[in-house]
Amino acid sequence: MRAVLLGPPGAGKGTQAALLAERWGIPTISTGDIFRANIKGQTELGRKAQEYTNAGTLVPDEITNAMVRDRLAQDDVVDGFLLDGYPRNPDQAVELDSMLADLGVELNAAIEITADSEVVIERLLKRAEIEGRADDTEPVIRKRLEVYATSTAPLTAFYAGRGLLVQADGIGEVAEVTERIVGAVEAH
Ligand code: ADP
Repeated sequence: MRAVLLGPPGAGKGTQAALLAERWGIPTISTGDIFRANIKGQTELGRKAQEYTNAGTLVPDEITNAMVRDRLAQDDVVDGFLLDGYPRNPDQAVELDSMLADLGVELNAAIEITADSEVVIERLLKRAEIEGRADDTEPVIRKRLEVYATSTAPLTAFYAGRGLLVQADGIGEVAEVTERIVGAVEAH
């Protein structure tokens, strides 16, 4: 299984990515997690990414693409992977195609977890109280949703056009959503 996970911030991509990866026995690659780990570790990459993640805007493609290209070259992803948070705009999608072509593999699915913005704002504000993520403040959440709508949402049409899009409703219990996604992918 080689899949990308799409959906607005707060749709539950991170949670579902971990459960799906376990189910399918493949690693997850979360660009948001990689950025946060680098920011925490105060690496050069973290220093470059921080101003963007804090503002809720996309880290420049040249930084993100290079990071994903390195990650996809590692041994543990040869038999499959689940990308969470990448690609996030059409240029990244094209770049991903080139990375996979270089590796001689293809995507099997683009899984979109859907959720409306009122629900996701509520979830993210609740998460802010629990996890204290720097980008979970209301103005930054609104910015992230705006970036999603303009830059990332067009990817659903891009993957639908290639017959790769699988959609699942992200509202409901965590386990219920996981089963819904697995069912939709199997039906695909
Ligand atoms: P969420 O999906 O909840 O908005 P993520 O953890 O996926 O959060 O990402 C957090 C931040 O990391 C984004 O707002 C952005 O600044 C940066 N980021 C993550 N993935 C990418 C990407 N593919 N391209 C550019 N920036 C990214």
